Amino acid sequence: MDRKVRVRFAPSPTGPLHIGGVRTALYNYLFARQHGGDMILRIEDTDSNRFVPGAEEYINEALAWLGIGIDEGVREGGAYGPYKQSERRDIYRAHVKQLLDAGKAYIAFDTPQELEQARAAHPNFQYDAYTRTSMRNSLTLPQEEVERLISDGTPYVVRFLIQPGRDVEVYDLIRGKVTINSSILDDKVLYKSADDLPTYHLANIVDDHLMEVSHVIRGEEWLPSAPLHVLLYEAFGWSDSRPDFVHLPLLLKPDGKGKLSKRDGDRLGFPVFPLEWHDPKSGEISSGYREKGYLPQAVVNFLALLGWNPGDDTEIMSMQELIDKFSLEHCSKAGARFAFEKGKWFNHEYLMAMPGEELLRLFKPMMEANGVNPSDFSDEYIVRAIDMVKSRANFVNDLWEQGKFFFTAPKEYAEKDIRKRWKADTPSQMEELTEVLASLPDFSSQAAEPVVLGWITDKGYHMGNVMNAFRLAVVGECKGPHMFDISELMGREETIRRIKDAVTRIKPEEE
Ligand code: GLU
Repeated sequence: MDRKVRVRFAPSPTGPLHIGGVRTALYNYLFARQHGGDMILRIEDTDSNRFVPGAEEYINEALAWLGIGIDEGVREGGAYGPYKQSERRDIYRAHVKQLLDAGKAYIAFDTPQELEQARAAHPNFQYDAYTRTSMRNSLTLPQEEVERLISDGTPYVVRFLIQPGRDVEVYDLIRGKVTINSSILDDKVLYKSADDLPTYHLANIVDDHLMEVSHVIRGEEWLPSAPLHVLLYEAFGWSDSRPDFVHLPLLLKPDGKGKLSKRDGDRLGFPVFPLEWHDPKSGEISSGYREKGYLPQAVVNFLALLGWNPGDDTEIMSMQELIDKFSLEHCSKAGARFAFEKGKWFNHEYLMAMPGEELLRLFKPMMEANGVNPSDFSDEYIVRAIDMVKSRANFVNDLWEQGKFFFTAPKEYAEKDIRKRWKADTPSQMEELTEVLASLPDFSSQAAEPVVLGWITDKGYHMGNVMNAFRLAVVGECKGPHMFDISELMGREETIRRIKDAVTRIKPEEE
């Protein structure tokens, strides 16, 4: 039977959302949209020790920034709520009871010290069919003792009773069938009386079932939990409606050796978080893609290709194209190298393709931040200036760095260029240049260039020195777009003014 596609992104609010988690959210979203399904955002906050204030807001903000839409969730509401696990205690309690009543789970009173002793005594200790008989639990203690301990308020946990010696089959839509023998599994804790909360495993299964999740799409690190989850579905009698599993490949370090970590980002200078994160405890600040000047569309495009390909070599794809092309068949099993340089390339491409209006919206605040009033310039002037420098920019910030001279006259001139290009005869040549420029009938790049170059040649001046001195005077350094394109946009008056200014301010180097 074809069921409605319902997927969930189920982060735990234990810190900022890692870029790998963002990719998981994105793939869920693409899959949901492609199938006209629902995308759920479920907050898995059952580990009260690891709860971090601000993490949930961070998740919402990051997904919104990237355009990963949510259909059902804490803020969106929906028919399957609450969508925050700490608000579903009654549901979990009832399900724990169901397993206990059916003899599929049991209560264990072992203290942390007792567990420690067991581990010390048996090197490969795990709580399972072979060891549970020698521990303090409802399988070994008399019924009255169990009841007495509970009514005394003794902390306990509920453990899942795993039958050993069974082959558990996990079907994964990317990896195919994986078989694991149940003897290697331990009797996982499903619930802790101390905080009256279930563990991840129980809450995750119960919610996926109750929320009618059709596909569990998550990171590869959760693959080891899958056999246990299969057994839990079975214990509840839900095997027939079990969601399909999809475990996405790991994100690897840029050199492909091991799992990507925050330390790699710090070491190599790239963010591993979508947004900047201010750690509430340590005060430490971790950089984010947004604050580094990345465009959300570029980040989405870059992440989409880390573990999936469209089946051909298309690289630039909008969110809608990704939705149309996404397929689990083209997701890889092997880990995906986090080639962050490629992320910059994507950003550059999106910047190049960005419509003028959009560029203006991003660029004007930057002008203001640098003390320039955007209304001193026409929108057309600003857009043309940006167009001239954007091929040299990866980020919006680079646009300012590359193009600021269009908006402010140089405050200083690059020392090394002065040394190289500003000779003893430069000031008089520049004075002459201002006359040539003043007398041009047409100041356009096309018309000005041959006249100025002709004048330099006729005079027998050094072409490189004169043109570079011209550039140094107007731009402040010997870099930038085509000189006559610059002067055309800046206009005759400003160009001449800057040259005159440079002549009074730059002192030729003594040779
Ligand atoms: N809460 C888990 C996490 O933080 C969810 C794993 C899953 O999707 O099942 O990633």
